[in-house]
Amino acid sequence: MAQCEGKTKKGDRCRRDASADSSFCTIHQDQGIRARETREPEEWDHDAILKAALGFALVGVLLLLRFRR
Ligand SMILES: [Zn+2]
Repeated sequence: MAQCEGKTKKGDRCRRDASADSSFCTIHQDQGIRARETREPEEWDHDAILKAALGFALVGVLLLLRFRR
């Protein structure tokens, strides 16, 4: 199992084992989430919002066509 990439309050590298689905232990999992969010926030958000908006628009049109019949 890999070592946690989180840092302790002293600034040292965490010595705990990382969780199976991440490179951080359960204590430092929020450090990993924060690091991922600050990397590419704009690009990811715009893409996700655009896809969500298109999906909702498509569903809205389909519902509108069904109710009109
Ligand atoms: Zn840790």
